[in-house]
This record gives sequence, C-alpha cells and structure tokens, in this order.
Amino acid sequence: MITPYVGTAARYEVTVPPPLDGSTRARAGTLTLAHGRVETPQFMPVGTNATVKALSPDDIREVGASIILSNTYHLYLRPGHDRIERLGGLHRFMDWDGPILTDSGGFQVVSLGDLRVVNDDGVTFRSHIDGSSHTFTPELAIGVQEALGSDIAVAFDQPVFPSSPRAVVADATDRTHRWAERSVTAHQRGDQALFGIIQGGLEPDLRAASTRFIANLPVDGICIGGLAGDETPAQREAALDVVGPLLADDPRPRYLMGLGSPADLLEAVDRGVDLFDSVLPARVARNGQLWIPGGRLNIRNRSFLDDPSPIQEDCPCLACRRFSRAYLAHLFRARELLGYRLATCHNLTFTLDFMARIRSAIRAGSFPAMLPGLRLRAGRMSGGEGAVTSA
Ligand SMILES: [Zn+2]
Repeated sequence: MITPYVGTAARYEVTVPPPLDGSTRARAGTLTLAHGRVETPQFMPVGTNATVKALSPDDIREVGASIILSNTYHLYLRPGHDRIERLGGLHRFMDWDGPILTDSGGFQVVSLGDLRVVNDDGVTFRSHIDGSSHTFTPELAIGVQEALGSDIAVAFDQPVFPSSPRAVVADATDRTHRWAERSVTAHQRGDQALFGIIQGGLEPDLRAASTRFIANLPVDGICIGGLAGDETPAQREAALDVVGPLLADDPRPRYLMGLGSPADLLEAVDRGVDLFDSVLPARVARNGQLWIPGGRLNIRNRSFLDDPSPIQEDCPCLACRRFSRAYLAHLFRARELLGYRLATCHNLTFTLDFMARIRSAIRAGSFPAMLPGLRLRAGRMSGGEGAVTSA
C-alpha cells in the first residue's frame, strides 16, 4: 500500500493501488479538499468564465460533477480577481460549493494572448478581449488564484506544443522548473492546495528530468502538462510511460491537463492518471455532437427530426429523461438556447458516467479484464478531435 499523502489543504489516499502483476497502472483513490471529496479517476468539467457554459450549478451537480476547473487567465482579465475576492470568492460568486481547481493561466497566456514576450520574469501579452498589456509572473498567477480562493491552485508554467523542436522544449521546461520554485515560495494560502506541472514535451529524457524535478518540490499534486495538444495518442502514451514508473511510489494525485475524449481518458487511466479536464465534451455538445455508447450522433442530421426516442435509452440526464431526439434536433435547427443546455447535460453525464464505470472496474479488481468493453463504449472519439487548443 502507498501511505496516504497528507498536506495542509489536501489529503490523497490511493484506496486501490495498481495490481502487482503490472497489467495496468490504473488506481482508485480519494482526494479530500477544502470544499469536499473527489473520487479518482475523475473528470473535471471546465467553467472557463466562472460558469460551465449553458449549465446552472444544479445542472453541474446533476451531471455528476464533483469538482470543476476554472480559468485564472479569463477571470483575471474579466471580471478581475480582486472583484471576485471582494464579492466573497469564486465559490460564492458562481454559487458552486464543491471543489474548484484553477489552472495557472500559463496555457491561455501562450495560446490566447497576442504579441507575447517570454522572459525569465514572466510572460507579457496583450489581452484577447481589449488589447491591453499585462505581465503574468509566477507570483501574480499564484496571487490571482489565492484571491479566487480555489481548492487547488496550479504553479505557473510555460507550455509549448508537443511537436516543438527539442531546444524550445528544453528551454521552456527549465523555465517551468524555475517558475515552479517561485510559485511554491509565493503560495501562502493554508486552505488551498498547490499542484506543480511537469513539462518536457515528447523528449523522454526531458520528460523524465521534469518529472523528477517537480516530484521533488513540496507540492500537493502533480500536473502532467504539454500533452493533449498536437501529439498522436501513441506519442502521448509513450510520454505517460516515462512519467508513470517514476511516480509509482509517489503518494500524490496525478493530473493530465486538457484531455477529454472518453477513449483518450481510458488509455491515460490505464497509465496511472487520476484527474482530467477538458472543454471537449461541452464544446462538441454545443455543436450538436452527442456521445453515446460506441460512438456519437449528430443531432443536426435530418433523420432525427422524426425520432421519438431519447438520445440514449439508459441515460439519466435531463435531456434523455424528458425529451426526444426529435425535440433536440428541432432545438438545434432553431438555434434555441435550451438545446445547448440539454446537449451539454448529456455529454457531461456520458463522460462522468464513463469515469464512474472505470472506477467501479478498478475497485472490483477487474479493470484489465474490462478494458476491451470500456474501449467499445468509448468509441473512437480520439485523435484530432482531442486537440482542443483553447479553453
Ligand atoms: Zn442523456
């Protein structure tokens, strides 16, 4: 057994460790945070602007979410972290009383900010909203997250595309390490956990060195960054095969940032990842793509206009309990707002139910045996579709 990790603002207990036969690195655990408990492996819906798009907090609960992610970069720019702090913090502001993880803003600064300049102090960029100039440093990124009052803050990092040249990856990885140390020093809030981020791209030696460096810091959890970008599933799995064995005896949770298709989630769990987030299930839902066991259906297709059946027979979500495919198809054609809400409820319910099935299999000790069936249920929602590049 792995001794439970006990930090001041986070406790993590691996309740079902990977089997000794090496057939999988999948494990189950319980992460206890200031606003509640999270069973792992777990998926975090993304509430970019302090809202999971189209859903109320009651909807977020009903789809099965136990923790959500919100974006530091977006909330810093609008409405401003100081304003949210004055209004009682992010939980009160958005009326979500469960755990919240805030990202560091590093990814959005690099992917959304214009005219960015990176140096060792931080990243200077222009707002994608109004063109105003800002500089994000590790100290500011931590200060913003402390003002928001999330359960988990994340160290500031410099992500690069997985396919970047080795020299670019090496430079960004070294800088990420220096910024992680500064983030640890800056972080003061005793009721907020702090996670560090591994970079290293697809270079095995850089990925391994980054894993060792971040694991040596006094952080409460370990983010695996710089993936879920333009890499192939095989490249991603190779990177996870570098990280996983190095963290085999580490008691802290591991979080792969930005991965969201069920097929991709399943393979990452098999390689020992505990936490995930992505805008993907909600984003494709708003485009009319609904996930069902074994595949997906495009609700904009004409054939659904006369279909009285629910999206998915056994789904407990609001859309499937009360409405037909025909009604959803009509709402999408008429661009009615309820359509976006119902479709989002369905895809997040499907994703969170899939994670619950994975946890059940791990707890029953039958995850390796159930992998083929879980792969079938996940369908082939992988590859380019997983490459969501902005939140
Ligand atoms: Zn449903």
